[in-house]
Amino acid sequence: MMKALVFAEKADHFNRISSKLKEMGFEVHGLSFAEANADHLYISEPNYDYASITAAMEKISDDVGPDLVVFSSTKLGKEVSARFAQRKNLPCITECLNLEVEGSSITVSRYSLGGKTIAKLRTSLPGVIAVVADAIEPSEQSFQMNIQDFEIPVSNQIRTVSREEKKREAVGLREADVIICIGRGLRKKEDIELVKELAEKLNAEIGCTRPLSHDYKWLPEERMIGLSGEKVSPKLLISIGVSGQIQHAVGIMNSKTVIAINTDENAPMREHSDYYVVGDLYEIIPELIRNL
Ligand SMILES: Cc1cc2nc3c(=O)[nH]c(=O)nc-3n(C[C@H](O)[C@H](O)[C@H](O)COP(=O)(O)OP(=O)(O)OC[C@H]3O[C@@H](n4cnc5c(N)ncnc54)[C@H](O)[C@@H]3O)c2cc1C
Repeated sequence: MMKALVFAEKADHFNRISSKLKEMGFEVHGLSFAEANADHLYISEPNYDYASITAAMEKISDDVGPDLVVFSSTKLGKEVSARFAQRKNLPCITECLNLEVEGSSITVSRYSLGGKTIAKLRTSLPGVIAVVADAIEPSEQSFQMNIQDFEIPVSNQIRTVSREEKKREAVGLREADVIICIGRGLRKKEDIELVKELAEKLNAEIGCTRPLSHDYKWLPEERMIGLSGEKVSPKLLISIGVSGQIQHAVGIMNSKTVIAINTDENAPMREHSDYYVVGDLYEIIPELIRNL
Protein backbone atom coordinates (compact mmCIF):
# COMPACT_ATOMS: atom_id res chain seq x y z
CA MET A 1 0.00 0.00 0.00
CA MET A 2 1.29 3.48 -0.83
CA LYS A 3 2.00 5.81 2.07
CA ALA A 4 1.24 9.51 2.37
CA LEU A 5 2.64 11.88 4.99
CA VAL A 6 0.52 14.95 5.81
CA PHE A 7 1.15 18.20 7.66
CA ALA A 8 -1.58 20.79 8.25
CA GLU A 9 -1.66 23.27 11.10
CA LYS A 10 -5.49 23.23 11.18
CA ALA A 11 -7.29 19.97 12.11
CA ASP A 12 -10.09 20.72 9.61
CA HIS A 13 -7.56 21.05 6.77
CA PHE A 14 -5.79 17.91 7.93
CA ASN A 15 -9.03 15.90 7.92
CA ARG A 16 -10.07 17.07 4.46
CA ILE A 17 -6.67 16.07 3.05
CA SER A 18 -6.43 12.76 4.93
CA SER A 19 -9.95 11.67 3.88
CA LYS A 20 -9.08 12.34 0.23
CA LEU A 21 -5.82 10.38 0.50
CA LYS A 22 -7.57 7.48 2.25
CA GLU A 23 -10.24 7.45 -0.47
CA MET A 24 -7.37 7.16 -2.97
CA GLY A 25 -6.01 4.12 -1.12
CA PHE A 26 -3.10 5.63 0.81
CA GLU A 27 -2.01 4.68 4.32
CA VAL A 28 -2.04 8.09 5.97
CA HIS A 29 0.69 9.26 8.35
CA GLY A 30 0.77 12.79 9.66
CA LEU A 31 1.94 15.55 11.94
CA SER A 32 -0.60 17.91 13.46
CA PHE A 33 -1.14 20.22 16.43
CA ALA A 34 -4.39 18.56 17.51
CA GLU A 35 -6.13 15.21 17.16
CA ALA A 36 -7.03 14.53 13.53
CA ASN A 37 -7.85 11.57 11.29
CA ALA A 38 -4.87 9.43 10.27
CA ASP A 39 -3.59 5.88 10.49
CA HIS A 40 -0.47 7.05 12.32
CA LEU A 41 -0.53 10.54 13.78
CA TYR A 42 2.17 12.50 15.57
CA ILE A 43 0.76 15.31 17.69
CA SER A 44 3.00 18.16 18.81
CA GLU A 45 2.61 21.49 20.57
CA PRO A 46 1.75 24.21 18.00
CA ASN A 47 4.89 25.50 16.33
CA TYR A 48 4.81 27.89 13.37
CA ASP A 49 8.52 28.09 12.69
CA TYR A 50 9.25 27.02 9.10
CA ALA A 51 12.68 25.57 9.83
CA SER A 52 11.50 23.54 12.83
CA ILE A 53 8.53 22.03 10.99
CA THR A 54 10.70 21.22 7.99
CA ALA A 55 13.14 19.40 10.30
CA ALA A 56 10.23 17.57 12.00
CA MET A 57 8.77 16.45 8.66
CA GLU A 58 12.20 15.30 7.51
CA LYS A 59 12.58 13.19 10.62
CA ILE A 60 9.13 11.60 10.30
CA SER A 61 9.60 11.10 6.57
CA ASP A 62 12.88 9.24 7.19
CA ASP A 63 10.98 6.82 9.47
CA VAL A 64 7.85 6.42 7.31
CA GLY A 65 9.29 6.50 3.77
CA PRO A 66 6.20 8.12 2.17
CA ASP A 67 5.40 7.98 -1.55
CA LEU A 68 3.64 11.34 -1.31
CA VAL A 69 4.11 14.21 1.16
CA VAL A 70 1.13 16.58 1.36
CA PHE A 71 0.88 19.99 3.01
CA SER A 72 -2.10 22.29 3.38
CA SER A 73 -1.51 25.15 0.93
CA THR A 74 -1.48 27.88 3.58
CA LYS A 75 1.34 30.44 3.90
CA LEU A 76 3.07 28.09 6.35
CA GLY A 77 2.34 24.94 4.34
CA LYS A 78 3.65 26.44 1.08
CA GLU A 79 6.85 27.65 2.73
CA VAL A 80 7.51 24.32 4.45
CA SER A 81 6.63 22.23 1.37
CA ALA A 82 9.23 24.06 -0.71
CA ARG A 83 11.90 23.76 2.00
CA PHE A 84 11.12 20.08 2.56
CA ALA A 85 11.19 19.27 -1.17
CA GLN A 86 14.49 21.08 -1.61
CA ARG A 87 16.08 19.17 1.31
CA LYS A 88 14.84 15.85 -0.08
CA ASN A 89 15.51 16.76 -3.71
CA LEU A 90 11.89 15.99 -4.65
CA PRO A 91 9.48 17.71 -7.08
CA CYS A 92 7.05 20.15 -5.42
CA ILE A 93 3.74 21.67 -6.61
CA THR A 94 1.77 24.11 -4.45
CA GLU A 95 -1.83 25.46 -4.57
CA CYS A 96 -3.20 22.17 -5.92
CA LEU A 97 -6.99 22.04 -6.23
CA ASN A 98 -7.31 18.36 -6.97
CA LEU A 99 -5.10 15.29 -7.15
CA GLU A 100 -5.15 11.92 -8.88
CA VAL A 101 -2.59 9.15 -8.69
CA GLU A 102 -1.87 7.04 -11.75
CA GLY A 103 0.74 4.35 -11.17
CA SER A 104 3.93 6.02 -10.09
CA SER A 105 2.90 9.57 -10.95
CA ILE A 106 0.51 12.15 -9.58
CA THR A 107 -1.61 14.60 -11.56
CA VAL A 108 -2.79 17.81 -9.92
CA SER A 109 -4.77 20.82 -11.11
CA ARG A 110 -4.08 24.41 -10.13
CA TYR A 111 -5.07 27.87 -11.34
CA SER A 112 -2.70 29.48 -13.82
CA LEU A 113 -2.54 32.85 -15.61
CA GLY A 114 -3.88 34.59 -12.48
CA GLY A 115 -6.86 32.24 -12.28
CA LYS A 116 -8.03 32.53 -15.91
CA THR A 117 -7.19 28.90 -16.69
CA ILE A 118 -6.73 25.65 -14.82
CA ALA A 119 -3.49 23.79 -15.55
CA LYS A 120 -3.04 20.05 -15.08
CA LEU A 121 0.47 19.07 -14.00
CA ARG A 122 1.93 15.61 -13.66
CA THR A 123 4.97 14.64 -11.61
CA SER A 124 6.60 11.40 -10.57
CA LEU A 125 6.39 9.89 -7.10
CA PRO A 126 7.82 10.30 -4.55
CA GLY A 127 6.79 13.93 -4.60
CA VAL A 128 5.59 16.85 -2.51
CA ILE A 129 2.37 18.82 -2.99
CA ALA A 130 0.54 21.57 -1.11
CA VAL A 131 -3.23 21.31 -1.47
CA VAL A 132 -5.93 24.00 -1.07
CA ALA A 133 -7.75 22.05 1.66
CA ASP A 134 -10.99 24.02 1.33
CA ALA A 135 -11.30 22.77 -2.26
CA ILE A 136 -11.58 19.17 -0.99
CA GLU A 137 -14.97 17.83 0.11
CA PRO A 138 -14.31 15.71 3.21
CA SER A 139 -15.60 12.12 3.07
CA GLU A 140 -16.25 9.54 5.81
CA GLN A 141 -13.24 7.21 6.01
CA SER A 142 -12.00 4.85 8.71
CA PHE A 143 -8.47 5.22 10.03
CA GLN A 144 -6.30 3.13 12.38
CA MET A 145 -5.82 6.20 14.61
CA ASN A 146 -2.47 5.24 16.16
CA ILE A 147 -1.58 8.45 17.97
CA GLN A 148 1.79 9.41 19.42
CA ASP A 149 3.15 12.60 21.04
CA PHE A 150 5.93 14.27 19.13
CA GLU A 151 8.38 16.98 20.06
CA ILE A 152 9.28 19.22 17.16
CA PRO A 153 13.05 19.77 17.13
CA VAL A 154 13.86 23.39 17.95
CA SER A 155 15.65 25.12 15.12
CA ASN A 156 18.49 27.40 16.11
CA GLN A 157 18.29 29.26 12.79
CA ILE A 158 15.11 31.20 13.57
CA ARG A 159 13.88 32.02 17.05
CA THR A 160 10.32 33.20 17.71
CA VAL A 161 10.65 36.27 19.91
CA SER A 162 6.93 36.84 20.45
CA ARG A 163 3.59 35.96 18.88
CA GLU A 164 0.52 38.16 18.72
CA GLU A 165 -2.95 37.10 17.68
CA LYS A 166 -4.04 39.07 14.61
CA LYS A 167 -7.21 41.01 15.43
CA ARG A 168 -9.95 39.66 13.21
CA GLU A 169 -13.56 40.65 13.00
CA ALA A 170 -15.87 37.70 13.73
CA VAL A 171 -17.49 37.16 10.36
CA GLY A 172 -19.92 34.34 9.63
CA LEU A 173 -19.68 34.35 5.85
CA ARG A 174 -19.28 30.58 5.54
CA GLU A 175 -22.36 29.86 7.65
CA ALA A 176 -24.55 32.69 6.28
CA ASP A 177 -27.80 31.83 4.45
CA VAL A 178 -27.89 35.23 2.78
CA ILE A 179 -24.87 37.27 1.66
CA ILE A 180 -24.73 40.66 0.01
CA CYS A 181 -21.43 40.96 -1.81
CA ILE A 182 -20.29 44.42 -2.83
CA GLY A 183 -17.68 45.53 -5.33
CA ARG A 184 -16.08 48.56 -6.88
CA GLY A 185 -19.45 49.68 -8.25
CA LEU A 186 -19.78 51.46 -4.88
CA ARG A 187 -18.38 54.98 -5.26
CA LYS A 188 -17.35 55.71 -1.68
CA LYS A 189 -16.99 54.10 1.72
CA GLU A 190 -19.99 55.92 3.17
CA ASP A 191 -22.24 54.14 0.66
CA ILE A 192 -21.70 50.90 2.57
CA GLU A 193 -24.31 52.28 5.00
CA LEU A 194 -26.92 51.86 2.26
CA VAL A 195 -25.86 48.25 1.81
CA LYS A 196 -25.97 47.69 5.58
CA GLU A 197 -29.57 48.88 5.60
CA LEU A 198 -30.47 46.31 2.96
CA ALA A 199 -28.46 43.63 4.80
CA GLU A 200 -30.45 44.29 7.99
CA LYS A 201 -33.73 43.85 6.14
CA LEU A 202 -32.55 40.52 4.71
CA ASN A 203 -30.63 39.34 7.78
CA ALA A 204 -27.60 39.06 5.49
CA GLU A 205 -23.82 39.08 6.02
CA ILE A 206 -21.80 41.52 3.92
CA GLY A 207 -18.97 40.20 1.77
CA CYS A 208 -16.82 42.09 -0.73
CA THR A 209 -14.36 41.87 -3.59
CA ARG A 210 -10.63 42.27 -3.20
CA PRO A 211 -10.37 45.96 -4.13
CA LEU A 212 -12.75 46.92 -1.31
CA SER A 213 -10.87 45.00 1.38
CA HIS A 214 -7.28 45.19 0.17
CA ASP A 215 -6.94 48.32 -2.01
CA TYR A 216 -9.45 50.73 -0.42
CA LYS A 217 -9.51 48.99 2.99
CA TRP A 218 -13.20 49.83 3.40
CA LEU A 219 -13.92 46.40 4.89
CA PRO A 220 -11.70 43.90 6.75
CA GLU A 221 -9.98 41.21 4.70
CA GLU A 222 -12.08 38.48 6.41
CA ARG A 223 -14.98 39.74 4.28
CA MET A 224 -13.24 39.19 0.94
CA ILE A 225 -14.77 36.41 -1.17
CA GLY A 226 -12.83 34.58 -3.86
CA LEU A 227 -9.74 32.62 -4.74
CA SER A 228 -7.63 34.27 -2.05
CA GLY A 229 -10.54 34.86 0.33
CA GLU A 230 -13.60 33.00 1.60
CA LYS A 231 -15.43 30.37 -0.45
CA VAL A 232 -19.09 30.74 0.46
CA SER A 233 -22.23 28.64 -0.07
CA PRO A 234 -25.29 30.70 0.95
CA LYS A 235 -28.85 30.01 -0.14
CA LEU A 236 -28.95 33.51 -1.64
CA LEU A 237 -26.10 35.75 -2.73
CA ILE A 238 -26.83 39.27 -3.96
CA SER A 239 -23.88 40.63 -5.86
CA ILE A 240 -23.83 44.42 -6.20
CA GLY A 241 -21.42 46.35 -8.42
CA VAL A 242 -19.16 43.32 -8.89
CA SER A 243 -17.67 42.54 -12.32
CA GLY A 244 -17.32 38.79 -11.59
CA GLN A 245 -13.70 38.16 -12.55
CA ILE A 246 -12.82 34.47 -12.20
CA GLN A 247 -10.66 35.05 -9.10
CA HIS A 248 -13.76 36.37 -7.35
CA ALA A 249 -16.27 34.02 -8.99
CA VAL A 250 -14.58 30.83 -7.70
CA GLY A 251 -15.58 31.94 -4.21
CA ILE A 252 -19.33 32.14 -4.95
CA MET A 253 -19.77 29.07 -7.16
CA ASN A 254 -21.41 27.00 -4.41
CA SER A 255 -24.15 29.60 -3.78
CA LYS A 256 -27.65 28.26 -4.41
CA THR A 257 -29.12 31.36 -6.03
CA VAL A 258 -27.14 34.36 -7.25
CA ILE A 259 -28.75 37.69 -8.11
CA ALA A 260 -26.43 40.31 -9.58
CA ILE A 261 -26.95 44.04 -10.05
CA ASN A 262 -24.64 45.72 -12.52
CA THR A 263 -24.79 48.67 -14.91
CA ASP A 264 -22.83 46.73 -17.53
CA GLU A 265 -25.09 44.25 -19.29
CA ASN A 266 -22.11 42.19 -20.39
CA ALA A 267 -20.00 41.98 -17.22
CA PRO A 268 -18.61 38.44 -16.57
CA MET A 269 -20.87 38.32 -13.51
CA ARG A 270 -23.73 37.63 -15.89
CA GLU A 271 -22.33 34.12 -16.47
CA HIS A 272 -22.22 33.43 -12.75
CA SER A 273 -25.76 34.62 -11.93
CA ASP A 274 -29.20 33.06 -11.91
CA TYR A 275 -30.84 36.51 -12.14
CA TYR A 276 -28.95 39.45 -13.65
CA VAL A 277 -30.38 42.91 -13.13
CA VAL A 278 -28.96 45.58 -15.44
CA GLY A 279 -29.17 48.85 -13.55
CA ASP A 280 -27.66 51.38 -11.19
CA LEU A 281 -27.20 50.14 -7.64
CA TYR A 282 -27.92 53.67 -6.37
CA GLU A 283 -31.43 53.43 -7.80
CA ILE A 284 -32.10 49.75 -7.14
CA ILE A 285 -30.94 49.41 -3.51
CA PRO A 286 -33.12 52.25 -2.11
CA GLU A 287 -36.06 50.83 -4.06
CA LEU A 288 -35.42 47.35 -2.62
CA ILE A 289 -35.17 48.76 0.92
CA ARG A 290 -38.45 50.62 0.45
CA ASN A 291 -40.20 47.47 -0.75
CA LEU A 292 -38.91 45.00 1.84
C1 LIG B 1 -3.99 36.01 -8.10
C2 LIG B 1 -5.22 36.87 -7.92
C3 LIG B 1 -6.10 36.56 -6.89
C4 LIG B 1 -7.26 37.34 -6.73
N1 LIG B 1 -8.12 36.98 -5.74
C5 LIG B 1 -9.28 37.65 -5.61
C6 LIG B 1 -10.25 37.25 -4.64
O1 LIG B 1 -10.06 36.31 -3.87
N2 LIG B 1 -11.40 37.96 -4.56
C7 LIG B 1 -11.68 39.02 -5.39
O2 LIG B 1 -12.75 39.62 -5.26
N3 LIG B 1 -10.77 39.42 -6.30
C8 LIG B 1 -9.59 38.76 -6.43
N4 LIG B 1 -8.70 39.18 -7.37
C9 LIG B 1 -9.00 40.42 -8.13
C10 LIG B 1 -9.97 40.15 -9.29
O3 LIG B 1 -9.24 39.73 -10.42
C11 LIG B 1 -10.76 41.42 -9.67
O4 LIG B 1 -9.85 42.45 -9.96
C12 LIG B 1 -11.73 41.90 -8.60
O5 LIG B 1 -12.55 40.85 -8.16
C13 LIG B 1 -12.60 43.01 -9.17
O6 LIG B 1 -13.36 43.57 -8.16
P1 LIG B 1 -14.73 44.34 -8.49
O7 LIG B 1 -15.65 43.43 -9.22
O8 LIG B 1 -15.19 44.94 -7.21
O9 LIG B 1 -14.24 45.57 -9.38
P2 LIG B 1 -14.39 45.86 -10.95
O10 LIG B 1 -13.81 44.77 -11.74
O11 LIG B 1 -13.87 47.24 -11.15
O12 LIG B 1 -15.98 45.85 -11.21
C14 LIG B 1 -16.87 46.83 -10.75
C15 LIG B 1 -18.22 46.51 -11.38
O13 LIG B 1 -19.18 47.43 -10.88
C16 LIG B 1 -20.07 47.78 -11.94
N5 LIG B 1 -20.66 49.09 -11.59
C17 LIG B 1 -20.06 50.31 -11.62
N6 LIG B 1 -20.93 51.25 -11.19
C18 LIG B 1 -22.09 50.62 -10.86
C19 LIG B 1 -23.35 51.06 -10.35
N7 LIG B 1 -23.58 52.34 -10.07
N8 LIG B 1 -24.33 50.13 -10.17
C20 LIG B 1 -24.12 48.81 -10.44
N9 LIG B 1 -22.93 48.34 -10.93
C21 LIG B 1 -21.92 49.22 -11.12
C22 LIG B 1 -19.18 47.84 -13.16
O14 LIG B 1 -19.95 47.67 -14.33
C23 LIG B 1 -18.23 46.66 -12.91
O15 LIG B 1 -18.71 45.47 -13.50
C24 LIG B 1 -7.54 38.44 -7.56
C25 LIG B 1 -6.63 38.75 -8.59
C26 LIG B 1 -5.49 37.98 -8.77
C27 LIG B 1 -4.55 38.33 -9.90
